[in-house]
Amino acid sequence: MSLTDILSRMRGAERLAGRDEGSVTLVAVSKVQPLERVEAVLAEGHRVFGENYVQEAAGKWPALRERFGTVELHMIGPLQTNKAKVALDLFDAIHTVDRPSLAEKLARLAEARGTCPELFVQVNTGEEPQKAGVLPDEVDGFVARCRALGLPVRGLMCIPPEDEESTPHFATLAGMAERNGLTGLSMGMSADFEAAIALGATHVRVGSAIFGARDYG
Ligand SMILES: *Cc1c(COP(=O)(O)O)cnc(C)c1O
Repeated sequence: MSLTDILSRMRGAERLAGRDEGSVTLVAVSKVQPLERVEAVLAEGHRVFGENYVQEAAGKWPALRERFGTVELHMIGPLQTNKAKVALDLFDAIHTVDRPSLAEKLARLAEARGTCPELFVQVNTGEEPQKAGVLPDEVDGFVARCRALGLPVRGLMCIPPEDEESTPHFATLAGMAERNGLTGLSMGMSADFEAAIALGATHVRVGSAIFGARDYG
C-alpha cells in the first residue's frame, strides 16, 4: 500500500456512501515508524499525522515542522494528565479525552492559553476492561460535562475490540454522536477504514497500511 492507494480507496468509499469526495480526513498514524518513512509521506505532500505518545511526538515533530512547514498533528493515544500541557503545545486535535480529570485539566490549560485543540471523546464501545474510553452509558453525561467546561468537543472516537466485527461499533458511535449533536467521528484503521467511511467517519486513523508494519523491537 501507499499513501496514494489509501487516498484513492478513501475517495472510492466516499463516493459509494454518497458523501462528498475529500470530505474524510486521513490521519496518517506515524507512531514508532522510522523517520525516513514519515519523511517520505511528508514529501508526497501529506500534512495530517497521528501520534500515540507525547514524548515520541515531541522529539520528532518540531524539527519536521521546521523542514516541511505546517503539519496538523492529532493525538490518538492515551493522554496522561501530567502531559496535557506539552500535548496542548504540540497537537491540533486530541482524540482521547476519556475521563473527567483530563477534561478538567484541559479546560484549565485551555483557558490560560486562550486556545484549545479540537477534542474527541473516546468511547469504549466494547466495554473492554483494559481499554480506555468512556463507557457507552456515560457518554451523554460526559459530553455535557466537557461542554459545561467550555471545551470544544468536535466528536467521538472509538477503537473496536480486536476480535469483533467493527461495523456494529462504528454504527453505535455514529448514533451516540448524532444524539449529542456532534459532527466528528474518528473511527476506522488500516483494516476497516472503508467500512468506517460508509458509516460516517470524518477522520480515519491509518498507520500500517501507509507506512508498513510497526517494529516495536
Ligand atoms: C496505532 C493506531 C492506529 C493505526 O493502526 P493501523 O492498524 O496501523 O492502521 C489507529 N488508531 C489508534 C488509536 C492507534 O493506536
